[in-house]
Amino acid sequence: MTARILLIEDEPSIAEVAGFALTSEGFQVTWRTLICEAEAELTAAPCDLLILDLGLPDGSGLELLKRLRRDSEIPVLILSARNAELDRVLGLELGADDYVTKPFSPRELAARVKAILKRTVRNPPVINKIDIVPNVGKTWFEVDEVRATIQFHHHPLDLTCYEYLLLKTLLAQPERVFSRAQLMDQVWSDPTASFERSVDTHIKTLRAKLREINAALDPIRTHRGLGYSIHVCDDS
Ligand code: CA
Repeated sequence: MTARILLIEDEPSIAEVAGFALTSEGFQVTWRTLICEAEAELTAAPCDLLILDLGLPDGSGLELLKRLRRDSEIPVLILSARNAELDRVLGLELGADDYVTKPFSPRELAARVKAILKRTVRNPPVINKIDIVPNVGKTWFEVDEVRATIQFHHHPLDLTCYEYLLLKTLLAQPERVFSRAQLMDQVWSDPTASFERSVDTHIKTLRAKLREINAALDPIRTHRGLGYSIHVCDDS
């Protein structure tokens, strides 16, 4: 089956080069220049992969990616002239599958698209929901590791990468007290580059998000001088 790719790019010359490289590899390419057109296209017909420019006439590709990731895991490859590390990190944190910088090699672009599609076919999305508390507790979470999302009281949490990893780590062993250093080891790829204060900052924003959904529960507990734990039962 021919994979259908939606190319969102406002620069006709770039779209032409990318489109040619992809159609030569047998992909079916639909080209749109605006975010609003792309959104309409995505609603109208399913596609297998999205190639997304960041600087678009009607907004930022990152905003589209953010909206998409609320309920879609369609593979996204960012194609951008901006090589700023921040954009790259943000794009990947928001759930992009790959990032290619302009100017790009058309063959490399096609190869990367193929690699993403191969990965997603080989690892079809599996919903791996873990009910942390099997009985109907007052406090409970659902972790979906494939989508890297966590629901709290049936409400999806809009988490940053670090908040997600922190909460997932705490939920893996409810009631266990994790020291800040242990949390950093679990969550940060290079803990030495961060400070233990970062844990406090992310815990604070995480708490605020949980409070928005249920202000009474406050499941994350602070153990003075020790660290944090999470409470997931309603028995206290
Ligand atoms: Ca552009």
